[in-house]
Amino acid sequence: MSKKSLFVSEIYSAIQGEGPLLGIRQIFLRLSGCDLRCKWCDTPESLQRSPLCSVEQKMGERNFKMIQNPINYESFISFVNNLVPKLHHSMSITGGEPLLQAELLKTYIIKLKEQFKFPVYLESGGHRHDELSSIIHLLDYVSMDIKIPSSGTAVLWENHKKFLDVCLKSESLIDFWIKLVVSEETLLDELVYAVDLVKSRLINKSPILFLQPVTQINGIKPPTPCNLLNIHKELLSLYPHIRVVPQVHSLISQK
Ligand code: SF4
Repeated sequence: MSKKSLFVSEIYSAIQGEGPLLGIRQIFLRLSGCDLRCKWCDTPESLQRSPLCSVEQKMGERNFKMIQNPINYESFISFVNNLVPKLHHSMSITGGEPLLQAELLKTYIIKLKEQFKFPVYLESGGHRHDELSSIIHLLDYVSMDIKIPSSGTAVLWENHKKFLDVCLKSESLIDFWIKLVVSEETLLDELVYAVDLVKSRLINKSPILFLQPVTQINGIKPPTPCNLLNIHKELLSLYPHIRVVPQVHSLISQK
């Protein structure tokens, strides 16, 4: 069973706190395992596969039950059903890095769509382009990160270019966008490089690029208000579709 089942960290109902769909209600499928190590990771519990995952039993009640991993798709569908999918806008598939389990995800997404007619929103580090290509036809929304060098990851510019190209070529995605987390350590030069990279790939779509001030963690702080305004101004002069949006779920003490 394990080779055909997903390693999951959490399944729960919550409010989307980032990007253009801010405020919608989603069922979150958080997969475990990540091949990156961002300095400001806010989900350290999902970095490694764990023998157990936590599953909310009733929508929004936070009555989590620990369930043995991996989770087969029959159990997955039943857990989703318990959370009243019709009251949700979509399913958010996040992590960890969800594309590490892309092959298995295909089956789960197909079943999910058959059963609940649910849009699917993928949140990814934006580096696993081959895996994205294999499932892009099943996705409705993609939120991709660009990991700038000061995030603490390896240099991923080439991966991000290819990932962005897959999104740009998709004819089935409803929308996709790019997220750049910024901290007090972020250099304007690396943000300019990221914006130039995005601009160099664009043909006939202009995705929004979100600057997300880091939610304070591990002693890492967001930019000062003045610095953030200055970064925004400089980047707007390069590309007009840049917005500043913090993680709103953290501001309202939501998961
Ligand atoms: S990609 Fe996401 S889950 Fe992985 S280390 Fe970075 S913030 Fe954490």
